[in-house]
Amino acid sequence: MTLSIPFDNAYARLPAQLFSLQMPTPVSAPRLIAFNHNLAAQLGITGYDDSEELAQVFAGNETPARAKPLAQLYAGHQFGHWNPQLGDGRAVLLGDLNTDQGRFDIQLKGSGPTPYSRNGDGRAWLGPVLREYLLSEAMHALGIPTTRALAAVETGQPVQREKVLPGAVITRVAASHIRVGTFQVLAARQDIEGLRALFEHAVDRHYPTATTPLDFLKAVIAAQASLVAKWLSVGFIHGVMNTDNCAISGETIDYGPCAFMDNFHQMTVFSSIDRKGRYAYGNQPDIIVWNMAQLATSLVPLMPDADQAVTDFTAAIHAMPELIRHNWRRAFGAKLGLANPTEKDDALINGLLHMMSEQSADFTNTFRALSHGSARDQFTDQAAYISWHETWENRLNTMDNPENLMRMSNPYLIPRNHQVEAVIQAGVNADFAPFHRLHAALAAPFQGTADTSDLTAPPAENERVLATFCGT
Ligand code: AMP
Ligand code: MG
Repeated sequence: MTLSIPFDNAYARLPAQLFSLQMPTPVSAPRLIAFNHNLAAQLGITGYDDSEELAQVFAGNETPARAKPLAQLYAGHQFGHWNPQLGDGRAVLLGDLNTDQGRFDIQLKGSGPTPYSRNGDGRAWLGPVLREYLLSEAMHALGIPTTRALAAVETGQPVQREKVLPGAVITRVAASHIRVGTFQVLAARQDIEGLRALFEHAVDRHYPTATTPLDFLKAVIAAQASLVAKWLSVGFIHGVMNTDNCAISGETIDYGPCAFMDNFHQMTVFSSIDRKGRYAYGNQPDIIVWNMAQLATSLVPLMPDADQAVTDFTAAIHAMPELIRHNWRRAFGAKLGLANPTEKDDALINGLLHMMSEQSADFTNTFRALSHGSARDQFTDQAAYISWHETWENRLNTMDNPENLMRMSNPYLIPRNHQVEAVIQAGVNADFAPFHRLHAALAAPFQGTADTSDLTAPPAENERVLATFCGT
């Protein structure tokens, strides 16, 4: 084997209670589905000869030199309920490495059981692997912080779910896999030594200018406030914003039952397990504040004066909704061609959203059509639109070249659920051409071309996907 990854393994040098050393479990007949050569080059991955070798490594059958595979410990609030122990139950961190763009983790997901597996087989089936590959790479192309997909491999081994399905492994790359729940598990165990070591590692890795837990908290809050506004601006619904699925780095992580909405409604939910809509599209700003409050609680033991810590942390958490609103206004202002929107523009933005919701307008296509002057066609009641449009035009008259900003802020292409489902169906039938086509199109979401016009269409009534599943 010649493939080389310049692993450094800083996480493996942290206190031993933070992880369990764990090798991936080999599979019978790995076959490469996709490999992200550009990302591999950025990471300094070199020396691989062919897809056979890549399949062996990224299925977990061969461990690259210098890797130190481990499963990470964490806990978390799942749908608001405390779960004192979670952890990588179906994932293995091969290691982390330093690049000129910072430190990155390389993790296999679906690579077999670990000490943290919860009533599961540690495996993933093909569907969630293709889904995460497409959605995470689409998010990246949309300019939204996210984990990346490096490889997808079929294992040649079926997995038993509601039916027997082909097994697969995805390799993802993250600035780190440190979660709110990683801090929570140590704070809950009153493991101050572990907590301090994790804190120092996370500061060094993500927020090197932070010197105190308060600075660190504020930096994570800023990153998450920015992230959630970006999600809202493309109609993304994470679906499982449990504290264990919330990354300290501010990257989108753990693509499970997440989805992009077609027609706009604030309370849109796809996840089959989110019965009360806790993680609905429009609830995401509130939930991220709640998650940051859990992070703050976990950081209190690191402060010399607990009362002072609670006062300072509470102020930081209370400032977060306004920060999110500010980011939301900037993101949606840009979609309307406004470079420096003010509070007064909220009525304009909300006026459009309200109309879209009333008339079930397609989120992506309505915003995109604004730059072409054809948004009126997205509404059945055009009178309401025409009146809104007049107000918008008056406001736009004060702007220089708003079209350019709008073109950069309103994508043509998002990974629509019905297309992702069709890709998965074809993949189950061993046809990966639709996967590769959709993947290639999503790499340039702001360019509409004639050959991708079918991918921009909302689902027909019979194509509509109403529920998405965790399903790994
Ligand atoms: P997630 O849905 O990714 O947030 O997972 C929540 C927890 O369930 C994590 O600790 C996972 O490792 C665990 N888990 C999910 N699926 C499986 C599986 N197939 N085998 C073992 N553990 C799993
Ligand atoms: Mg998770």
